[in-house]
Amino acid sequence: MSVKPTSVRTPKVPKVGFVSLGCPKALVDSERIITRLRSEGYQIAPDYEGADVVVVNTCGFLDSAKAESLDAIGEAMAKNGRVIVTGCMGVEEGRIRAEHPGVLAVTGPHQYEQVVTAVHDAVPPLHDPFVDLVPPEGLHLTPRHYAYLKISEGCNNRCSFCIIPSLRGDLASRPANHVMTEAERLVKAGVKELLVISQDTSAYGLDIKYAESPWKGQPLKARFLDLCSALGDLGAWVRLHYVYPYPHVDDVIPLMADGKILPYLDIPFQHASPAVLKAMRRPAHQEKTAARIAAWRNVCPDLAIRSTFIVGFPGETEDDFQFLLQWLKEARINRAGCFKYEPVAGAVANDLPGAVPEEVKEERWHRFMAAQQEVSAALLAEKVGRTIPVLIDEIDDEGAIGRSQSDAPEIDGAVYLDGETDLAPGDIVQARITASDDTDLEGELA
Ligand code: SF4
Repeated sequence: MSVKPTSVRTPKVPKVGFVSLGCPKALVDSERIITRLRSEGYQIAPDYEGADVVVVNTCGFLDSAKAESLDAIGEAMAKNGRVIVTGCMGVEEGRIRAEHPGVLAVTGPHQYEQVVTAVHDAVPPLHDPFVDLVPPEGLHLTPRHYAYLKISEGCNNRCSFCIIPSLRGDLASRPANHVMTEAERLVKAGVKELLVISQDTSAYGLDIKYAESPWKGQPLKARFLDLCSALGDLGAWVRLHYVYPYPHVDDVIPLMADGKILPYLDIPFQHASPAVLKAMRRPAHQEKTAARIAAWRNVCPDLAIRSTFIVGFPGETEDDFQFLLQWLKEARINRAGCFKYEPVAGAVANDLPGAVPEEVKEERWHRFMAAQQEVSAALLAEKVGRTIPVLIDEIDDEGAIGRSQSDAPEIDGAVYLDGETDLAPGDIVQARITASDDTDLEGELA
């Protein structure tokens, strides 16, 4: 009896291209989708040409972000032609399809299941996925040594210029032990810095009534302070983003003074004038923030504050703006980004009276930046002569580039260690600061 040889064919591994736009929160959504797809046996294609389908995770916060998202969809259509759209702009399916009628599917923010289903429809997964292709900490788009940790979705606030709550819904906190499990896996995988994010980090747990969940044999409350303290036990740098100055934020400052979490708060103040803050409907807008910051620095002198501001909000007068400049000098904010107010389709603020002319916005933006640069430069100059820990981000021909505890990746400044080419990303070294400008520091190994 003769047996015909069977032809053994290696199945073609389906490949997905991924374009991730927008804020760190969108980045985390992208990471979740990629992790899921990878666990099903998909490969992530490094370019459009090698992909069987391309997922574009869009941002729909500002009109300029929407335009960027539409351009990215257009580019993916031109270079690949099989495109699935997801993310914040996905709520505007009509607009996307009007401009790019050929897109395969459109889904909104957090619709992980729908995105994955759309990918299955476009290019089916391998019948027998290699589940062990995914490391336990999931797949990340950030360098190996830092990672974003999202602790909740959505927001209970209703700032008048923002449509995020209508895109992402009300606050939905993750159980504390879920957050801790993810954080611990990340640290075990080599992450040196955890960047805690959400829409409103200090409101963590409010929606689930600060529910306890078991962690390391003890109940852990889903409460801002308890979570910060538990994260601080993991041995990585823990940096807090998107914190509002609610009274209970005072409680985490001693953790910073004790070195448990980084002495850093990213608080999007947006303005300082009470009238403008009221019109913006900002959370915690009645707090006397400059005095609060001074009190925090009494407890933790190294506390760095980063913030964002909007100039030219409807109704902002020259007096309001001067108030903001004065407040900046008093509060001594270490880093600040500034945006010129831009109406967002669907936002309540669009109907407010007192639109500020574009040239006035422009002029205020320049005055703001000049005032802030002065404050930033003075605070950085105070670091010269000190020895501080520096986390190395990259090495180039000239040396190592890292960050101090006062600097978040992507948005703040750097510490340049010229000649130190033997270091590696993720190293934490002690450096003596030798020079500063209004953004960065220079130093040498101590
Ligand atoms: S706090 Fe305000 S700006 Fe931030 S997401 Fe919530 S509503 Fe939007």
